[in-house]
Amino acid sequence: MDNLQYEEEGRTELSQLGEFALINRLTDGFKTQNKSTVKGVGDDCAVIGTGKKKTVVSTDTLVEGVHFDMMYTPLKHLGYKAVATSLSNIAAMNAIPRQVLVSVAVSNRFSVEALEELYAGIRICCERYDVDLVGGDTNTSLSGIIITVTSIGEVDKERITYRKGAQLHDLICVSGDLGSAYSGLLVLEREKVTYQANPNFQPDLDSYDYILERYLKPEPRIDIVKMLAEKDIVPTSMIDVSDGLASELLHICKQSDCGCEVYEEKLPIDYQTTRVCSEMSKNMLPVSNALNGGEDYELLFTISQKDYDKLKDSKEITIIGHITEKGMPAVMVTPQNTTITLVAQGWQAHEE
Ligand code: ADP
Ligand code: MG
Repeated sequence: MDNLQYEEEGRTELSQLGEFALINRLTDGFKTQNKSTVKGVGDDCAVIGTGKKKTVVSTDTLVEGVHFDMMYTPLKHLGYKAVATSLSNIAAMNAIPRQVLVSVAVSNRFSVEALEELYAGIRICCERYDVDLVGGDTNTSLSGIIITVTSIGEVDKERITYRKGAQLHDLICVSGDLGSAYSGLLVLEREKVTYQANPNFQPDLDSYDYILERYLKPEPRIDIVKMLAEKDIVPTSMIDVSDGLASELLHICKQSDCGCEVYEEKLPIDYQTTRVCSEMSKNMLPVSNALNGGEDYELLFTISQKDYDKLKDSKEITIIGHITEKGMPAVMVTPQNTTITLVAQGWQAHEE
């Protein structure tokens, strides 16, 4: 048998499926058989262990040219971001990260010093979040650099928060602000085009410092996980915002078997995000960046109404809507009281 047979009849293009359908198709036939496997595929992390404390594990890969452009991504930032975005999956389970494993595949375009720079960033992030680097793998790639970070965390059994679990009338909360990382990326892309046209051009990026940092150096919201524990709140569901608010709300609704309503004027959007949108084009709306931009790495979660008082004064958390009945769609209500049905953007395989 050779792989060519898959090129003939019955070939399905990756672009026909999209990421989530592909994962389902590949993993559907796998049944878990170990008692210590509490949760397998389908959430931000797998949950394992037989004791009161559970271990959560997640792995994510960043590919040069797909997830980042070396032209405007300093290697130190890249190392930091690879770890930070992986730790965000641990936070999304309401868990505290403890260890990471880092695998890199690099071409000979990179020097030892360049890789040391990458690891300097990895180290800063590990130190900042009290995480231990405990292993990994080193390989050659034919072109470019690929980084995989596996994160391990722990959480008391009764505090684990899945994507499922949202209940009718629960409040929908989000940390920080939305759309800023994508707006930062738009600025970097714009400056890249200008630089390619004129290499003497010196970009003035100072006034975009916040959104650039949001894109280049995101932070996992471990602080929110700790705050929730201090306030004695266990969210009913949670996910991190990696693909954009719309896509993550749809995950929560699908897995919790419910609908939701969020209010456009409640969405937390930074003024630099709004400014970039108005600079780019009249048709670019900040709310679109918030819904579909992605890479915010904020936490999106639902709480029972009885916990409202504990969160209502938090500067870090915004309540953006509520959960509606099973069978209802996921919608956003505009200030004009129009209802817009949310659709997922997220990842799609690229057409070659
Ligand atoms: P995230 O956006 O948080 O990285 P993903 O969409 O990548 O999550 O993954 C969704 C779920 O599918 C996770 O539980 C993940 O572990 C699982 N998953 C993704 N890709 C694969 C794969 N190739 N094989 C097995 N499980 C996978
Ligand atoms: Mg993933």
